[in-house]
Amino acid sequence: MFREEREEPRFDWTMIGNVGEGRPNLGPTMDVSVYRLMQFTLRDILIMELGPEAADRIYYKAGDQAGRQFCRQLINKHNDFQGFVKETQELLSRLKIGILRVEKADLNTQEFTLTVAEDLDCSGLPVCHETVCTYDEGFISGLFSEFTGRRFDVKEVDCWCSGDRVCRFEVKQAAEG
Ligand SMILES: [Zn+2]
Repeated sequence: MFREEREEPRFDWTMIGNVGEGRPNLGPTMDVSVYRLMQFTLRDILIMELGPEAADRIYYKAGDQAGRQFCRQLINKHNDFQGFVKETQELLSRLKIGILRVEKADLNTQEFTLTVAEDLDCSGLPVCHETVCTYDEGFISGLFSEFTGRRFDVKEVDCWCSGDRVCRFEVKQAAEG
């Protein structure tokens, strides 16, 4: 599972396993601090070993892969855009990832502004004047790319860590080529 070399991502949803069988007493949920402990220590070591730019690239790519897999596994691809947004909002809320709102949507140019409140990755963190949700940028990119079959670039422009109350993401269809 994790010992083979690879050129392409090999993640498969079955790797998550049967949580109900494995955790009959503890169940499928855990504390947000544990999630952040894992994310932030991993990011810390990636920065130490590879530098902040490479660490960002890895987090974005991992988020992108997660968004693609999330879409494949959980989202009905026959939805129209409204249905896609509604289903994504419900899932992100039910899974306690965050509260998603679409602030702007231009279906002609395929440019969107999304906000996420109570974000799993950053809400409540100390303000440091950085946007830190690189994994979420990748996640949204993967989600949109998988749903539409086109490439999307995502940039976080406001974050809890930059002093905002919500994270705000600019989503744009990538130029061809
Ligand atoms: Zn953020």
